[in-house]
Amino acid sequence: MGSAGDGGVCALWRWAEGPEERRLLELFSYGLMALGAVSSLLLRFIPMPYGRYSSRRFGWLLPARPAWVLQELPSLLVPLGLAACGGAVAAARPNRVLLGCFLLHYAHRALIFPLLIREGKPTPFFTFVLALLFCAFNGYLQGRSLTTYATYPAGWLGGSRFITGFLGWLIGMAINIHSDHILRNLRKPGETGYKIPRGGMFEYVSGANFFGEILEWFGFALACCTIESFAFALCTLFILSSRARQHHKWYLEKFEDYPKDRKIVIPFLY
Ligand code: NDP
Repeated sequence: MGSAGDGGVCALWRWAEGPEERRLLELFSYGLMALGAVSSLLLRFIPMPYGRYSSRRFGWLLPARPAWVLQELPSLLVPLGLAACGGAVAAARPNRVLLGCFLLHYAHRALIFPLLIREGKPTPFFTFVLALLFCAFNGYLQGRSLTTYATYPAGWLGGSRFITGFLGWLIGMAINIHSDHILRNLRKPGETGYKIPRGGMFEYVSGANFFGEILEWFGFALACCTIESFAFALCTLFILSSRARQHHKWYLEKFEDYPKDRKIVIPFLY
């Protein structure tokens, strides 16, 4: 660690930079993987309390739109702040491109997705706080890794790992956005109920939007090749496959004519 004597938030980040923080990020990454695994066990018994499983038992109910904006914003603002401070590798091209992918996703999730929601169910305060803390923590983890520690050899952006990962990220994001668009358009203005989603990847899985997001972050992890990005992808897989399983079970219980050959979240497999 250096000296924090020159004041300011950026000086604090420069002071924190060093092998101890590098080790801390690694430990946090293992923590994130463990958190995903434990959450997936818990979610076998309690459905993730928001959306159709929203309940007052988990605190005051906040309107869906502002809750989504506020809880997701840290994943946009924390890495942006870190990039503005500049880290040891922040100016390298691969790092800028990879951080750009992360920021693009969260610019959409925090600023566009919430405005498009139609008659979404309110979010309990407890779920909101958990999501907010997760986004701040993961924003720091991915942002700090890509601005300060991840180093790439010359030609990384033309290599097979980056190109395959980037395509996975791009296709995953397209599937995620398209599937959320299908869900949104199931409701006419004023309707709050649920219908069977059809079209796109919903022909294969109940959690098409979640499949897109999982693919997106595994693609990102391959393009980054960092423990931090891999931990995030794994955590996303644990959490979103649990939510997809709950939705799948819910659809089968509610709709007699629900397509029986539809898988949960991974086409043809699960
Ligand atoms: P859901 O599929 O539960 O809901 C998405 C929206 O569509 C909600 O507004 C919901 O309304 C509506 N909707 C869903 N199913 C139907 C249906 N059958 N008929 C009518 N309307 C429907 O997704 P989430 O809210 O869990 O997630 C939203 C986005 O956030 C997804 O893209 C997901 O990938 C992402 N996400 C990412 C996480 C991560 O760890 N990276 C964690 C959680 C979410 P209502 O609110 O009334 O249910």
